[in-house]
Amino acid sequence: MSSKEEQILNTPVQYIKSVGPKRAESFRKIGIRSIKDLLFYFPARHLDRTTTLTSAKAYGYLMNGYEGELTIIARVDDKERKRFGRKEFMKVQFRDSTGFFECVWFQGIKYFYDFFHEEDTFAVSGKPSLSKYGSLQFVHPDFDRISDDESRGFLNTGKIIPFYRLPKELKATNIGDFSLRRIINSAVENFADQIEETLNEIVIQENSLPPLKEAVKNIHFPLSKESLESAKYRFKFEELFFLEILIALRKKNYQNVLSGNSLKVRTNLISDFLKILPFDLTKAQLRVLSEIRKDMESPVPMNRLLQGDVGSGKTIVALIAMLIAVDNGYQAVLMAPTEILADQHAKNISKMMNKLFEIHKEKKIKVSLLLGGQKKSLKEKNLEQIELQEADIIIGTHALFEEKVKFKNLGLIIVDEQHRFGVAQRARLISKGTGLPGKLDENEASKAPDVIVMSATPIPRTLSMTVYGDLDSSVIDEMPKSRKPVKTVLRGESKLPEIYKFIIDKIQSGYQSFIVYPLVEESEKLELKAAESYFTELTNSFLKNIKVGLIHGRMPWDEKEEKMFLFLNKKYDILISTTVIEVGIDIPDANIMVINDAHRFGLSQLHQLRGRIGRGTKQAYCILVTKDKYISLSEQHENEIEFYSPAQLESYKASIRLQAMIKHNDGFKISEIDLKLRGPGNIFGVEQSGFPELKYADLVTDTEIISKAKDAAFKLIEADPELEFEDSRPVRTKLTENYSESFKYTKIA
Ligand code: ADP
Ligand code: MG
Repeated sequence: MSSKEEQILNTPVQYIKSVGPKRAESFRKIGIRSIKDLLFYFPARHLDRTTTLTSAKAYGYLMNGYEGELTIIARVDDKERKRFGRKEFMKVQFRDSTGFFECVWFQGIKYFYDFFHEEDTFAVSGKPSLSKYGSLQFVHPDFDRISDDESRGFLNTGKIIPFYRLPKELKATNIGDFSLRRIINSAVENFADQIEETLNEIVIQENSLPPLKEAVKNIHFPLSKESLESAKYRFKFEELFFLEILIALRKKNYQNVLSGNSLKVRTNLISDFLKILPFDLTKAQLRVLSEIRKDMESPVPMNRLLQGDVGSGKTIVALIAMLIAVDNGYQAVLMAPTEILADQHAKNISKMMNKLFEIHKEKKIKVSLLLGGQKKSLKEKNLEQIELQEADIIIGTHALFEEKVKFKNLGLIIVDEQHRFGVAQRARLISKGTGLPGKLDENEASKAPDVIVMSATPIPRTLSMTVYGDLDSSVIDEMPKSRKPVKTVLRGESKLPEIYKFIIDKIQSGYQSFIVYPLVEESEKLELKAAESYFTELTNSFLKNIKVGLIHGRMPWDEKEEKMFLFLNKKYDILISTTVIEVGIDIPDANIMVINDAHRFGLSQLHQLRGRIGRGTKQAYCILVTKDKYISLSEQHENEIEFYSPAQLESYKASIRLQAMIKHNDGFKISEIDLKLRGPGNIFGVEQSGFPELKYADLVTDTEIISKAKDAAFKLIEADPELEFEDSRPVRTKLTENYSESFKYTKIA
């Protein structure tokens, strides 16, 4: 598509007034080549001159007890460097038409001294105070240089002035705040009208969005506060809208192109299985199961997210779904993130299948375990079993992705602890089930397996509307009745001797304990305690004559497995460990969890670790151990993170995480706090999701807009799944131009 407008916008920036080849080169270095690129170089922030004060008014505000920030536009009148004892500082006196005020710096003195020139105009913002001599004063204020013309409201800049990031590449060719503003102003005045719309008319109308041209003009040089806000809204909306379009396409594509299987409960296999369970399913488990059964029966392939806090009993639900697949003559796969977890699943499930066979003689269900670290001969035997469908339930790790693995008749895929895998990995496993290499968008695909992804870390609403928006969702929101909440406490390192005494005492009443350390080997830099050296130290001191095991990340998996097995069978009372026990492992009598250097762990990791205990009927204890100095810090800061500098923030965040653990047992609450602390980028596989990064919208705060954008996008794809209507042309054009990378999983390419 190359309309006349398009060609104009693609003109190199060089041809804009006062740019030229040299400056064009410096623009190129920061990714701005064309006039269009420049038009989409948005301000980092704006100065609203309608809310600035004169110095006289500001003084009056201060005298009347005003304590907030304010902005004054004024000229540099005078500056001086001074010494006060051994301390140096510098002062700039500013003047406007109503009076004077001063700004003071104690740091960066040389820099600031050279920065301010007499008669230059600045917008100065900050919290004012009264100086010793009773004048209005700012200490280390924010300031923006503005030109004379701008300060008087010329240059068509209106009352709200944009400020752009000014990378060093631009500075190198003498582009400063004003000149950049002038260059962009000239681009906007002359070329913004050439910009073509990228959204459907109906979407614009229904959501009261400004047209793209208007939004671009107003994001740079807004006519009013309202028009700026509505421009910002449009860019967030548009960004989220296209994200949701991708999600809707992905979902549609999966449902349409691949016709799934229709799996029903056929025999009494399931009812027999329920008979061998030592407990009744919870209401939540039953509800989720009926949702899953409905999906499995439908010929549309299931693509479902199953959420449930640690210990809520997801495995049983998954297993029943697998049995339904097996009952229909299909294979079912369960994929786990670690070998040790896969191994435990295989053991438990095999045990249950043996028990099932005692009362259900019609079919012996065969379980096969496939791991990367297996001996070659064993692995080959397993691969053969899988290929010949001698194995009904196949459990494994990433090894299941390998080229060599060939399923005969895969009907159901379950991904456990799915946040450990990316969306791309999920897609790869699904494509295995279809017998096709690579992508999902091959039309010849015959039957797609049903898919359930399970997550113990509840996924906040904003993310389930975006990154996980192509999945249907089920939640197990109830714990088995037998379970008591874990008691969580925070202790300083100096209390360790008492903690050891506590866990030794508890051995008499049948308790087993985990002692967890963050890393395997001592790293001088981080002063982390190494599990190995602590094992030696502890077994020679506090834990002398106690049965203690050690498990760590460097062990081969079968050794880990053996240790876990010994622990399960009470050959150890205490297991010293690194985070390898993090996910899924189930030891009923392990009811104490001591976590050393707890401040080093992420919040969801801590919650997962705590989820390892409290599975039996005894009261369980989680003891978070941290540096003594963090204890008092932690008590001061409960929820506030806004105030701190990045340097302070890390330790405050740690204390907020620890407090959250003490206060909350509910995984949903925990994950909400985690999302606030970390931002969405790092969690839940957003990065590996295959979706474009967000520039304008914020997954944490823009919930409303996400929800509207999602509705609009899904509505459009419902009505026009291939985006072939004339109305959809803008969307289609932008999609193919900007998002082709994200098409891997969709049909429009
Ligand atoms: P998670 O959801 O964290 O994967 P699991 O599936 O491992 O939890 O279940 C934790 C424990 O709870 C297991 O020992 C399991 O047998 C048991 N369990 C599951 N469902 C119930 C239930 N309805 N009543 C009692 N115990 C249950
Ligand atoms: Mg689990």
